[in-house]
Amino acid sequence: MIAYGKQDISAADIAAVVDVLQSEFLTQGPKVPAFEQSVCAATQAPYAVAVSNATAALHLACLALGVGAGDIVWTSPISFIASANCALYCGAEIDFVDVDPVTGNMSTESLAVKLAEAEQAGMLPKVIIPVHLAGHCCDMQTIATLAQRYGVKVIEDASHGIGGSYCQQPIGRCDYADITVFSFHPVKIVTTAEGGIATTKDAALAESMAHLRSHGVVRDAAMLTRPQEGGWYYEQHALGFNYRMTELQAALGCSQMQRLTQFVAKRNELAAQYRHLLADLPLSLVEPLDNSISARHLQIVRLQQPELRKALFDFMRQAGIQVHVHYFPIHLQPYYMARGFKAGDLPQAEAFYQQILTLPLHPGLTTEDLAFIADTLKQGLTAVTKA
Ligand SMILES: *Cc1c(COP(=O)(O)O)cnc(C)c1O
Repeated sequence: MIAYGKQDISAADIAAVVDVLQSEFLTQGPKVPAFEQSVCAATQAPYAVAVSNATAALHLACLALGVGAGDIVWTSPISFIASANCALYCGAEIDFVDVDPVTGNMSTESLAVKLAEAEQAGMLPKVIIPVHLAGHCCDMQTIATLAQRYGVKVIEDASHGIGGSYCQQPIGRCDYADITVFSFHPVKIVTTAEGGIATTKDAALAESMAHLRSHGVVRDAAMLTRPQEGGWYYEQHALGFNYRMTELQAALGCSQMQRLTQFVAKRNELAAQYRHLLADLPLSLVEPLDNSISARHLQIVRLQQPELRKALFDFMRQAGIQVHVHYFPIHLQPYYMARGFKAGDLPQAEAFYQQILTLPLHPGLTTEDLAFIADTLKQGLTAVTKA
């Protein structure tokens, strides 16, 4: 099976992990800060807090921004469920902003209308979480301008996006967001097996996330509320979590980060080949904004005939090609429908979902693989149109 996404592990990656296994620290050693430094260097963010996965990073980002009971958070319905779940972990309410029909990213028109209505109703969100679907950056300038006007904080869910840029600046630099979150799941751009990170320009937000990542515990003498009783003494100041990244994960991450530019270049090369190979088919490719370079996590296409999607999906899978669909709209998940969302709430997201198919895209693919995928897709479209 040609996987839709897959890690790229080198001999150097393996050696880096083995080194940690033979070292003193498996957790809470020097590799996590080194990995955070490498992400700071790549994104130009002053602070980065590495955690066990991006879901944990989204949770901590919400908590650091003060999200709690009585608050509202808005995100995109075309995302992985974690983009919404993080608000519910904090006891807040979640709502969704409809997407742009072409990019599948949060629509700034819908956002502007929804913010104006929410202000009237006294129901403004505390935080909005735009998601860079496939690594294609949202219209962050417009989102940041709106957020500022209404006094709303912004977390970018850039789980798909490390190594990408927007307006000539790296994603994660936080020019248009309070916090950016990246995922290092094996299908993403670089991997730490499981892993995530939050970047920010704000020292206090970084400090808050670092504190909550490790049980809300304080050891620094200057921070203690009582006299220190001895070298063993620590205080718990908040209800934190164990969201720490291990040294093994961080060592893999440091090694992978050395190939970040290479990974993104290869993904963009493959995407260019897809554009050429698929040019005459009855579909359109989901493409990034002009003023950005996408990390190209996913190759999503929109079919002109959505009714063929299911048969085409089965045809491709039978041919050994692991096509996928990113994503089923979050608000139509049974869990979210039980909370009151219903079909028709977000018409653009629901229409986008019907049209989309994800083709394989990862650095291990060859020109021959892409030709095979494109050929099979062509055959599949002919076969299912006749059927
Ligand atoms: C993968 C992903 C997450 C969650 O990442 P984990 O590291 O698996 O927790 C969150 N949001 C989006 C958009 C993702 O694709």
